[in-house]
Amino acid sequence: MIAAMAERVIYLDHNATTPCDPRVVEAMLPFMTERYANSTTRNHRPGRDAASELERARTTVDRLLGGHAASEVVFTAGATEGNNLALMGAAEALVGRGRHIISQPTEHASVLEPLAALAKRGWEITLIGVDDAGRINLGELESVLRDDTVLVSLMLANNETGTIQPLTDAADLAHSCGALVHCDAAQAIGKIPVDVAQLGVDLLTASAHKFYGPKGVGALWIRHRRPPIKLTPVIHGGGQEGGLRSGTPNVPGAIGMATALEIATSAGDVERARTALLRDRLESSILDALDGSWQNGDGHNRLPNTSNLSIAGIDVNALLASLPDLALNTGSACTSAHPEPSPVLRAMGVSEELAGASLRLSLGRFTTKEDVDRTAARIVEEVIRLRDMPARMGRGSHRR
Ligand code: PMP
Repeated sequence: MIAAMAERVIYLDHNATTPCDPRVVEAMLPFMTERYANSTTRNHRPGRDAASELERARTTVDRLLGGHAASEVVFTAGATEGNNLALMGAAEALVGRGRHIISQPTEHASVLEPLAALAKRGWEITLIGVDDAGRINLGELESVLRDDTVLVSLMLANNETGTIQPLTDAADLAHSCGALVHCDAAQAIGKIPVDVAQLGVDLLTASAHKFYGPKGVGALWIRHRRPPIKLTPVIHGGGQEGGLRSGTPNVPGAIGMATALEIATSAGDVERARTALLRDRLESSILDALDGSWQNGDGHNRLPNTSNLSIAGIDVNALLASLPDLALNTGSACTSAHPEPSPVLRAMGVSEELAGASLRLSLGRFTTKEDVDRTAARIVEEVIRLRDMPARMGRGSHRR
């Protein structure tokens, strides 16, 4: 019954989460059944076996992210934990050098909230602005960097709009002032190439469930060369993960994450091109059919799977309610419990009305041409129906 239901729903919410790839499940299963030993236990063979598989997964993740040593990877419970460890751990470790951190307003809550917590503890946080495409201004970044800036935290790609930040240039600027660079790459990994060396970052956050791996596992990549970065742990206990993340390691999760990253990396350019074609087809079918509709975010420097649209005169919750056959989202899944218009779109200068009338469509590995055609047709059909309803007659202006 549930399977039949799921079949009828076209899922275009892959930035919220992805299904686990069957090959990932297959790789994980033995580590939940026969090979379940605790990798921290070195007193028996099954424990040592689990430890060596965990290290194998760590080596794979480090290599595929462009790192130099497996020890650069700390497995976490996902990107929220990775971002917290990066920000709180770096702030605490670097407090002797300064108390100034720079970020920007379209970051995920798992970056903005730790920064708010640090602000309450006396750190000075500067959020630089973004333009109407959601990109930071490098000149502004340069102008706010100071001698006491210890960290610059910038996401690689935005979860709501897909906009990609000029990370390499930003990292160069930050380093020229002696600041470390943290990058939340949770949405980018698996969708565009991500290489820590090429980006020039010191800390990078990943989450497996965003690229067809399991939920509840991620990693913080921490540069160990020239010079090594030392963080202060946030979770204290048995000292696992090099003392930075105590707790029994999630061996099946780490193996699932490594396998998912291998699959995503080998799919590479072909999958990116396929997804972008489908996304553009979906987007233009909707924008061409509906007056008063716009794409939000950078049209070019953007994730190939993401489309964020504002449709004037639409109550987006009414629209979603009228589309039970589609799984779409408004803005970020993590904040969709909050009814206020997307702060990401507001920071980009989108009007309150249009920010509140935005849809996020995020395609995935298993999305087909039929899926996008059906989705476009259904959205257009329902928007026209809702716009024609008498209650909608007094809708506001279409300005952005
Ligand atoms: N950062 C970004 C950019 C995200 O999109 C998300 C998930 N919405 C997170 C962090 C949090 O990831 P997780 O679910 O792994 O904690």
